[in-house]
Parts: sequence; structure tokens; C-alpha cells
Amino acid sequence: MQAALPRPASGLIERDCSGTRGYFAERISRLMRIFALLLACASAVWSSVRVEAQGSRYTLVTLIHTNDLHGRVLPSDENGGLARAATVARRIRAEHPNVIWLDAGDIIHGTPEDYLSGGIATVSAMNAAGVAAATAGNHEFDFGADVFRRALAHAQFPLLGANVRAREGGQWASLPPYAILDAGGVRIGVLGLATLQTVDLQWPGRIRDLTFEDPFETARKLVPALREQCDVLVALSHLGSVEDERLAREVPGFDFIIGGHSHTVIADWRWVGDTLIAQTGAYARALGRIDFVVRRDEAGKAEIASVNGQNTRWSDLNHQAMGIRFPDAPLIPLDRSISPDPDVVEAYTPFRLEAERFLSRPIGEALADIPTGGDEPPAANLVADAVRDMTGADVAVVDTKSVSGGLRAGPLTAGDAFNLIGGYTRQHLVTVRMSGAQIRKALQGEFVRKGRVELAISGARLELQPTPAGPVIQRMEAAGRPLEDSALYTVAGQAYVITNLMNAGGPAEVLAEPSETTREAAIEWIRKLKRVPAPDTGRIRFLQ
Ligand SMILES: [Zn+2]
Repeated sequence: MQAALPRPASGLIERDCSGTRGYFAERISRLMRIFALLLACASAVWSSVRVEAQGSRYTLVTLIHTNDLHGRVLPSDENGGLARAATVARRIRAEHPNVIWLDAGDIIHGTPEDYLSGGIATVSAMNAAGVAAATAGNHEFDFGADVFRRALAHAQFPLLGANVRAREGGQWASLPPYAILDAGGVRIGVLGLATLQTVDLQWPGRIRDLTFEDPFETARKLVPALREQCDVLVALSHLGSVEDERLAREVPGFDFIIGGHSHTVIADWRWVGDTLIAQTGAYARALGRIDFVVRRDEAGKAEIASVNGQNTRWSDLNHQAMGIRFPDAPLIPLDRSISPDPDVVEAYTPFRLEAERFLSRPIGEALADIPTGGDEPPAANLVADAVRDMTGADVAVVDTKSVSGGLRAGPLTAGDAFNLIGGYTRQHLVTVRMSGAQIRKALQGEFVRKGRVELAISGARLELQPTPAGPVIQRMEAAGRPLEDSALYTVAGQAYVITNLMNAGGPAEVLAEPSETTREAAIEWIRKLKRVPAPDTGRIRFLQ
């Protein structure tokens, strides 16, 4: 018995067909025969990307793919970016029409454009690029599920998540489990799988309407029925490359697994059994490309006849006959020599301009350089002070690694405050109530877990004894007095920092769910101070 399939992405074809699956061994044995057939055909025939031979029809399909864009649309001073990928995509589409662009998730991020638009900026750029389908990555939920829902409504392509469900059951928002896309009469099934890590990485309240089910179980349930409906099956996975290999081993039926999340650069053809696994790294530094030929016999049965890169290189043998030059590696580098695609630039420009207006607003003046780095980065202390001021908490804690930029003495803009947090995302602030004993246990647990101090603190002072197991708290003050074990304090910080503290110190009463971020806190703090001195240091002292 096969599981009934849930609804596919709307507006996409869903027809019955008797698609059958060829096996790897059979494909190999047919290769030479097919090469002969293909070579016998004039290249003019391939302009229609179909070859009719001995009652069978051969159709060329090209999948191009990206993953982990993290909002990189127009990188100014580095390689990569969606706009460059779109330029190469345009070239490939000029070669033949059966080109499908898939993206494996982590689309939106803490760039100024995505921050101000709630991710609509990058989604709009992907619309212009002609992305055919994408999978929801964990970062799609960085601004909360409600913000993602709004961004989803702007996507002109299906965003998929077969294992992401509404808590009350059924599909969540417009996040269908799969899509069936048409490429020259070949039905390409695309099943979207999201990482379970989303649950650990995001604050529970921000994804409370959702459940994330086991992606392997979901795939096992859906693949047999989905195979019946399509000629080629792709897992568009945001699981990471290790999990992708496990998926290929444990869930038979995928022709291709196009992955993301682990930022793995798969620079050569990686086969696991019958399944080709691909991933491009991140930030569209490369565009992935998979070319394959689907053979359909007189009875309508279809199978993949050959794949670029499979054993004997199909591309080398017949690219001249087909009039198409195939790459001899799965990744096409997107370096600075490639100009950005004008359609993508045009779609993104309104968001860029809005971001520039926002970032250029003057907000104050730094009276001294406030650098990052060192045991107690002054810039991180400034952000911790800003968080304490915005939340009104007794104690604020900030991940020092998230404060990746410093301030230079002189006039400050909102952009300078924004850049304190650099590219970091998931910056929403949470306030909880903890006892003194709990704070001590929580901080001590974090110092031991990391083996060092990676927190900036405001409203408290610590004396630490370095030990091989990590720094040990000898003395702690809060609100100017020794920390009292039984007293209650309010503690604010980035949601993931507070989660880590609760993991180490035990559950705490949540007083304020995430809303504002470290960025707003920094901007408001500088605006309030107007003239910003270097924040005091010595809040965390190591005893010798
Ligand atoms: Zn990810």
C-alpha cells in the first residue's frame, strides 16, 4: 500500500503517468547504444532538445541549483551572489529550454535589505532570477514564522517543506510538500525536506504554529506514490551533506539529491548508489549544474538514460552533436568577471535603496574607537549595555562572536550600528527571570561548555579563576551588589544565548518573547547617548 500524497504545489502539473525507474546497471549497459543514437542525430534536431529514435524519445533536461544564499544577491566586493548566478542561468537557458533552477534553502538572512523587508528582498530577486522551486531552510524562520509567511506570499515559485506541518495538522501557510515541474514533457518531482535543527536553532515561540517531522520518515512515506507521478525525482534537501548521503542510502527512489545547510562544496560528481548528490557551498559562489537525458519508450515509460558525469563522461562524447557545451564539473564558479543579471538587479534595487536610506541616517558620534576583539571586546560591551537599556533587564548577556564589527571615533550612522552585528542573524532579544543561583549555574555551565568566556555582560561583574576545564566563577556582582542566590533577577539576551543559559541553568520564566533585535538596541542606545564614550571594561576579570 502506498501512502496517499498530500496536495502538491498549486498551479503545477499533476497528471498520472506510468513512469518507471531504470536501474543504474541498466543505464550503464545502455550508455553506448544511446551515445550512438545521439551522435547519429544532427545537432539541428537537438535544438528542440528531443531526439526520436527507434520508437523512443530522448529529452535533454538541465537542473541548475543554488543553496544557502543567506541574502547574498549583490555582493559588492566578493565572488558569488544570486545576480551573477542568474547571468549564467540566462546563458544556459539560451542553449535549450528545459532548464529548471532549484534552490535548497537558507534564502533570507540578516542583511539590511532582508531585515527591513522581512526577507521579501531576496525572494523578489529569486523571482526575477526564475527560480522554479526552493526548500525552506532553518534561516527562513529567523524573523519568526509570521514574517516568513509574509515573504512566502511574495514568492512566485513554490517553497517546499514536506516535513514541515501546521501544528494543528495539514500544510502550514503556502509551504507545500512537493512540486511536479514540467521540463519539455518530462515530469520532475521535487520533494522539499527541512532540517530538524530548525527546532533547536529557533526560539520555540517563534515557530509555535509549526511542527518539524522526521525528514527520513516523511520521504519514506511520500516517495513511492510520488515516483508514480513523475519521471524524475529530486530531493531538494536542507539537511546537510551527511544527512543527504544517509537519505540516498536509506530512502531509495531519488535520482538526485540537491542539498544545502552544511555549505559543502561538492566539486566532483558524488554518487551514492543510484543517486547523484550535489551542493554548491554557499552564497552562490558557484552555480550547480546537472544535465541528463530522459528516454521515453513507445508505451510512455520514462527513465533516465544518462547523466552528465556518470562514469564515462556522456558530455564529452556527444556535446558536439548536441551543439551544447557541457561543463566537465558539477559547479560553475561565479567570480567577479561575471556581471550581475539586470533583471535581478532591477528587482532588488528598491530594497537596496531603502536599505541605503536607512543605513545612512546619522544617529550620534563615537568619542573614541570602540573596537571588537580581545578578552572583553568593548564593542560587545556596548551592545550588552544597549540590550540592557532597551529591555530594562537587570543583567544583559550578548554573544561576543555576534559582535563582529567595531566603531571608529567620529560621526555614526545607523549603518555603523547595524554593522556592529555584521552578518549575524537570529538577533531577537528575550527577557527571562532567574534566581541568582540559577544565573551563576547557567553562566558557569556556558563557560565550561565553551572552555572560555564568549559572553559580554552588562549590569554585572565577574571574577573568574582559569582552570583546565574552563573559567570558574569566584565572585559575581549584579546591580552593584554581590549576587544573592535566592534573589530574582531579570536577564535579557539574544534568544539563542538565553536558550543556552536555560539549558545550563534550568528553565526560567519568560517575561518578554522575542521582538526587537540587538540591531535596534544598538541604534537606539547610540541615539540616546548621542555622544558615545568607550564602554567600561573590567566587567569580567581573570584572577591570576
Ligand atoms: Zn541551514
